[in-house]
Amino acid sequence: MSSTLLDTLLDTSGDAAPEAPPQLPIRVIRSPKRRKTAAARLLPDCIEVRVPAGMTPDAEAEMVASLVDRIERKRAAEAGGVNLVERAATLAQRYGLHPPASITWAEQNDRWGSCTSARGTIRISTRLARVPAWVLDAVIVHELAHLHEPNHSPAFWELANRYPRQERASGFLEAMSGGHSDPCHAV
Ligand SMILES: [Zn+2]
Repeated sequence: MSSTLLDTLLDTSGDAAPEAPPQLPIRVIRSPKRRKTAAARLLPDCIEVRVPAGMTPDAEAEMVASLVDRIERKRAAEAGGVNLVERAATLAQRYGLHPPASITWAEQNDRWGSCTSARGTIRISTRLARVPAWVLDAVIVHELAHLHEPNHSPAFWELANRYPRQERASGFLEAMSGGHSDPCHAV
C-alpha cells in the first residue's frame, strides 16, 4: 500500500491548439497493486494518473503522456464552446429527426461518430472539436439519422441528406483523415 506521489508538469511544447485551455498539473500515483492497467481522471486542480509501480521511466512516461493526452483532448473539446446537446437538439428540430437521449464527446480515433440506436445515444469524436461547424453539424445529422435507420440504407441517406452539405462534409473529413472514409459506427 505504499504509493508515492509526484507532481510533474507536462511538456507543452508545440502540441496544444492556441485556444486550448491551459494544461493542468499532472499527479502520478504509482501503485504496487496495479499490474498492467493504468487510469487517469480529471480532478478540479490536476490530472491524476495511476500507473503500476516498477515500470521503467520511459515506459511510465509514455503511458502517462498517452493517458493525459486523451483527457486533455476531451477537455479541450468541452472547452471549445460547442454544446453538443443544444446543437443536436437544434439540428434534430430543423431536419425533422429525433433528438438523441444523450450526445457526448468521446475519444475515438477510428471513426467520427457512433451511435447506439436502441438507446438513442450518440458519441462524437473529440477530433471534431476543431473542424468547421458545418462539418460537425453534418456528422451530428448523420448520427441523428441513424437513430431512425441503423444501416447506411437508401432510407438512411434520405434522412442524412436533409443536411445539404452532407457530401461536402464527407469529402472534408476524408481529406482530413488521409482517405479514410468510414465516418461512423452505428449499432
Ligand atoms: Zn453512419
